[in-house]
Amino acid sequence: MSPGKADTPTGASERDEILAQLLAHGRFLGSLSSVGVVWPPPGVQALGGAPAPERPEDPEKALQAVKDEIGDCRRCRLASGRKTIVFGQGNPRAELMFIGEAPGAEEDEQGLAFVGRAGQLLTDIIEKGLRMRRADVWIGNILKCRPPQNRNPEPDEVLACQPFLEAQIRAIRPRVIVGLGKFGAHWLLKTAEPITRLRGRVGEYEGIPVMPTYHPAYLLRNPAGKKDVWEDMKTVLRLLGRPVPGE
Ligand code: URA
Repeated sequence: MSPGKADTPTGASERDEILAQLLAHGRFLGSLSSVGVVWPPPGVQALGGAPAPERPEDPEKALQAVKDEIGDCRRCRLASGRKTIVFGQGNPRAELMFIGEAPGAEEDEQGLAFVGRAGQLLTDIIEKGLRMRRADVWIGNILKCRPPQNRNPEPDEVLACQPFLEAQIRAIRPRVIVGLGKFGAHWLLKTAEPITRLRGRVGEYEGIPVMPTYHPAYLLRNPAGKKDVWEDMKTVLRLLGRPVPGE
C-alpha cells in the first residue's frame, strides 16, 4: 500500500476522503464570507479551486428548475412579510448580469427586480450608458423577498437565499456580472472591504469577471458618484468587447 493511500472498506482511499472533507469544509467557510467572515484569509490561496462550470445547454430550463425549487419559499422569516417572491428577470442567455441587494416596496408589489426609482436609474445606466436593452441583461438580487422597512439583509437570510442566486448565475453563466452596492459586491467577491475601495476593481466569481460599483439608490442620494459608475461601466463594455462611447 502506498503511503497516504490506505484503502477504506468502500474502496475509496482515506486520503481522498479527507481531501473531500477538507474541500467541503473550505466551501462552507467560503460561504460564510457572504456574512462578513473573510475566507480564505488575505494572502492564503484557496484549496483546490474548482474549474468554472459551463453554461447549461438550456438556461431557460435551468432557471425554471431554480424557480420550482424556490416554490412558495418559507425558508426564512422574510416569507411572512412579503407579497411576492422577486425571482429576477431578463434574458436567460444574458452576457451581463446585475446583482442588487433585495426587493423594495415597488418590487415586492410587482414581483420584478429594480422597478422603483433606483430601478429607473439602473435602466438609464443600461440603456443610455451601456447602450444595451434592459431586456437583454439579467437583473436580480441577493434576497428574493423584501426585508421589512427595507432594512439591510440579515446574515441568516442571505445564507437561506444564496443557493438560489448561485444556481441562477450557473444557469445564465453571463460574461460579466456587476455587483451593485456593498451587499451585491460583498456577496459576489466574498469580501467585506468597503465598496468605496472595491468599486472600479475587477474581481471574479466562479471564473466570471465581476465589476463592483455603487448602488443606484446610493446614486440617487449622491449624484456625484455617477461619474465613478460611468468609469466602471466603461470597463464593463471593454470586458464585453463592446464599443466604449467616446473612445
Ligand atoms: N434595490 C435593490 O437592491 N434591488 C431592487 O430590486 C430594488 C432596489
